[in-house]
Amino acid sequence: MKIIDKLFINGAWQSPANDNVLQVINPTSGDVFLQVPNSTEEDVNEAVAAAKNAFMHWSTTTPSMRADYMNRIADAMEQKYDELIEAHVNSMGCPRHLTGLYHVDTPIEAMRYYANLATTMDSVEHKGSVIITKEPVGVCAFINPWNYPLHQLIGKVAPALAAGCTIVAKPAEQTPELDFIMAQIFEDIGLPAGVFNLVSGEGTALGAILCAHKDVDMVSFTGSTRAGIQVAQAAAPSVKRVCQELGGKSAFIITEDADLASAVRYGVEDVMANTGQTCNALTRMLIPQSRYQEALSLAASIANEQIVGDPNNDQITMGPMASFKQKQSVQNYIQLGIDEGAKVICGGLGAPTNLAEHLKKGAFVRPTIFAGVTNTMRIAREEIFGPVLCIMAYDDIDSAIDIANDSDFGLSSAVFAKDEAAAMRIAKRIKAGQCYLQGAFFSLEAPFGGYKQSGNGREWGEQSMHEYIETKAIICA
Ligand code: NAD
Repeated sequence: MKIIDKLFINGAWQSPANDNVLQVINPTSGDVFLQVPNSTEEDVNEAVAAAKNAFMHWSTTTPSMRADYMNRIADAMEQKYDELIEAHVNSMGCPRHLTGLYHVDTPIEAMRYYANLATTMDSVEHKGSVIITKEPVGVCAFINPWNYPLHQLIGKVAPALAAGCTIVAKPAEQTPELDFIMAQIFEDIGLPAGVFNLVSGEGTALGAILCAHKDVDMVSFTGSTRAGIQVAQAAAPSVKRVCQELGGKSAFIITEDADLASAVRYGVEDVMANTGQTCNALTRMLIPQSRYQEALSLAASIANEQIVGDPNNDQITMGPMASFKQKQSVQNYIQLGIDEGAKVICGGLGAPTNLAEHLKKGAFVRPTIFAGVTNTMRIAREEIFGPVLCIMAYDDIDSAIDIANDSDFGLSSAVFAKDEAAAMRIAKRIKAGQCYLQGAFFSLEAPFGGYKQSGNGREWGEQSMHEYIETKAIICA
């Protein structure tokens, strides 16, 4: 077992205030593979003080200086590529051969992308006698989940560094190793002391302290809607800015005249990627009545192509759930779907039957598809966060759009129609922060965030910079 017993605060590896630890379990083997500090309020206070102190200098550096640091961070990430991969495989059970694609390549690209955007901080607008400038918001607290740990960290850190903010990061309990590797990178490239600080520990305790802290100027939170509400409540008395990136239950509308085989493949593979632990997964597939049976048989056969197994085997497409808690939650939802009267057409309860002996203690679940789902069922309304797809039938396109919009969430969506123009007409009527047309994929340029209970912030794209910027108006006589 690897032991990390120091926190990264004020540019140095410091012993935490007490000896409490968090143990991190490898979900493939069920064994503890890592131990990290479980920080206290004292550690948080030190980290925030370091970030506040560093802000005085970092916020006055030129954009080109910050871009230079960031490009060196990206270079160092490339040098530690294998270590970043290993940490994902160990902590999440992500298939090794897919980990670069899913988890590491985009964060490296994103660090360079935001380095290029640092110069936008210099732009000044003149409106008559009014001069409008941009300033960094200050000390930012970043609280992240475990499903894309590096991607989510860099999605906040890169625009914040570009804007001139300083940072206190709190990783999820299940995946702290990525943050520790990044802290080592920040030290190695000589990022000024206090610009990035890391406190590992339990979210309910540390999150509340960070959110309420008077010297934290903004909180960016990615995670469940449940915790997101608590974050906003804890932050409210100090009137700090809160960016919430929360859950989803995204709809995918396939029209009658779409290329059904391509559309269904896209939808099923989208839900199965990363063992279904993706906030914007298209977990509600909407099919016209006339093509419903055809879509069900296509979906079941595509899901059956998934090979679940050892993340170190390059033939597999799906590893375990990232934690045993998440495995149990998915099992509970599969049972709930059965109880609600939906029909399992692929997968179902329990672990895959053909798992090798050494994997039997792992957090494995079966890729599962429910047919006969109605939008009132809890499996259609709540985020399952596993490889579970609900397929629903609709009568006409207006009712498909009604079903898509009848959700507490509004994170993402997709449309597959005869052509892009037809898909675009439907996309404009869907209440969600993103809509993917005709089988499109994630783009760094696309602002990412939710309507309704999916949150209020936007990450990625140039838009993300705004989360870390104060607008100042200087009015001349
Ligand atoms: P979670 O809310 O339980 O935990 C997320 C983080 O919040 C962890 O670091 C945790 O320690 C911390 N936390 C927990 N309770 C807290 C509290 N009361 N105050 C402050 N921090 C607290 O979520 P999870 O189960 O780890 O992650 C899965 C969720 O994240 C899903 O709902 C998923 O949709 C969502 N998510 C959203 C996005 C997005 O961009 N919208 C991206 C990825 C994941």
